[in-house]
Amino acid sequence: MGVSFHTTLIALAALLGMEVFAWFAHKYIMHGWGWGWHQSHHQRHNRLLEKNDLYVVVFSLVVVGLFALGAARWPVLMPIATGITLYGVLYSLFHDGLVHRRWPLRWQPKSGYLRRLILAHRIHHAVHTREGAVSFGFLWAENPEKLKLRLLENHPRHGQKTSQPGSS
Ligand SMILES: [Zn+2]
Ligand SMILES: [Zn+2]
Repeated sequence: MGVSFHTTLIALAALLGMEVFAWFAHKYIMHGWGWGWHQSHHQRHNRLLEKNDLYVVVFSLVVVGLFALGAARWPVLMPIATGITLYGVLYSLFHDGLVHRRWPLRWQPKSGYLRRLILAHRIHHAVHTREGAVSFGFLWAENPEKLKLRLLENHPRHGQKTSQPGSS
């Protein structure tokens, strides 16, 4: 299957669709019944890996499965799997690299959308509990000022160092 306008569009749609999917998965799975793995990503530590990385492993396996099915039977799955892979690359660069500094990148954007993305995700990490977090996107970020206000609504006492587990 050659790269045509059509397949490129499908790949782009899959990439964008992944951000929507990731937003929902982050809010309702990772901060829901999947908190057991995600919790490790909301705690300070100096280990190299987090239990949360298991999500990346699971998604990678799904993508490998999509490529295999695409090659064997349904060619339309190829651009979809390609779009999801591209999303994974961007996620890794922005979330793991720029925000959490897991890549040896020196560059730190001082302005513009990437700066906003970093600030928004830091605000997501202001909360160390399952409930009450804001900003669940990885490539899409709301205005940080708005997010801060929403965080204060969720945690009226936030900033006064109240971190009893389970209090919300
Ligand atoms: Zn989270
Ligand atoms: Zn994070």
